[in-house]
Amino acid sequence: LCRHMKGAFCNMNHTDKQTVSGEKDMLLNQDRAFLWHHMAPHNDHPAIFTESDNVYLTDIDGNSYIDGMAGLWCVNVGHGRTSIAEAAAKQLNTMPFTPMTNSHKPAIQLAAKLNDWLDGHYRIFFSNSGSDANEVAFKIARQYFTQTGKPKKYKFISRYRAYHGNSMGALGATGQADRKASYEPVAEGFRHAAPPYCYRCPFGKEPDSCSLECASSIEQTIVWEGADTVAGVIVEPVITGGGVITPPESYLQKVQEICQKHDVLLIVDEVICGFGRSGEAFGHKNFGVQPDIVTMAKGITSAYAPLSATAVSNDLYESFKSGGPQSHFRHVNTFGGNPMSCAVALENIDILEREDLVAQAKSTGSYLRAQLESFYQFPSVGDIRTFGLMAGIELVTDKTTKEPAPPEFMQQVLGYCKQHGVMIGKNSDTVPEHNNVLTISPPFIISHEQIDTIVETLREAITRASPA
Ligand code: PLP
Repeated sequence: LCRHMKGAFCNMNHTDKQTVSGEKDMLLNQDRAFLWHHMAPHNDHPAIFTESDNVYLTDIDGNSYIDGMAGLWCVNVGHGRTSIAEAAAKQLNTMPFTPMTNSHKPAIQLAAKLNDWLDGHYRIFFSNSGSDANEVAFKIARQYFTQTGKPKKYKFISRYRAYHGNSMGALGATGQADRKASYEPVAEGFRHAAPPYCYRCPFGKEPDSCSLECASSIEQTIVWEGADTVAGVIVEPVITGGGVITPPESYLQKVQEICQKHDVLLIVDEVICGFGRSGEAFGHKNFGVQPDIVTMAKGITSAYAPLSATAVSNDLYESFKSGGPQSHFRHVNTFGGNPMSCAVALENIDILEREDLVAQAKSTGSYLRAQLESFYQFPSVGDIRTFGLMAGIELVTDKTTKEPAPPEFMQQVLGYCKQHGVMIGKNSDTVPEHNNVLTISPPFIISHEQIDTIVETLREAITRASPA
């Protein structure tokens, strides 16, 4: 039990331990009775975490784990940042709330700061979550075309395997069958095209025969749907949760050209890639494109508080000032742009700048890539994909057939890592047999030694897992 303890529980006397274990039993019972866990089957009781610091999480038994996924790809500046807690407390003591129908200093300052990071001129609309930010993008795109004389343009095209959120529109954009099962019909107007998935190219191409057929499939979908009915294409720079699917270098530029040719807006979902995860300020900066709309969440506050934003190019915004009775964006949410969340975001971004953490994410990402390279020796490692400070390791039963490793194999690997103090993840539901990509996305402050611990634990886990 003490193998990966940080010591708090070990150092306690007997009575203290009994109290903790009494509390733990009570919490476990209440967890079973009252709490509904996200994404987890009902008989599954995840560990109860009580503390965190740096890249470590500590559970109620005092075991500590490396948070190899930075929560859900989000605690980018790492845990235990007291300056963020202080910024939150200061704002709560000054003014806890006024809605965004008004204005306030942290929101104004944050909107200006986001424009610096985006290198463009964008209007910023604040919401609570990544899903919200994408819903806002869809509504703004539809309203923009309605009030510029093209009301038939209402459809959106996204890619299979991509995840864009849990609400009915964002789920509509999501290209993962399992996420939608039992919840359909989702919002109408979403269509899907092939992902830029080179390891399993949907067009049977190899890098030397590739003509970006995956990008062309977006154009084909626009044409087949009727370009006069399509409002936007939504893409993540890299499909993250769907398996760290990294596109060919010129893919996104080609998608942008297609959008421009057909008068379709390019919406880039930076919910995970934004704020340095990709090794640049935003993921799309790696590919030299200028989106019409950028959505962001997670890393905007490193998840210290809920907040998201939809950045809309000024050209689009202009049409919302045309003066008609319904020309403004008629959308409100109570908590979006909450003053404390904005203050937290400002301090979080200040940390990224002060500590040069975007550059650090990039260099640590290169180190991680180098350490993972030898994993190709495993018969079960089919592909290793990295982008900034994230990695996807695709496990197979056979490198030639690329048959995905089954869930039991994935579970053995993930279970071993967790038992040995390392929490990593796997890609989210596409169809169960495609959930065969291990994911690593740690806080940017992770040291090389801590990366080594992840890599060596994972090496041991894959070595020990029974062949599928
Ligand atoms: N977009 C992407 C790319 C995501 O990964 C997620 C969440 O994981 C979302 C949108 C939805 O964000 P949220 O969970 O904050 O609603």
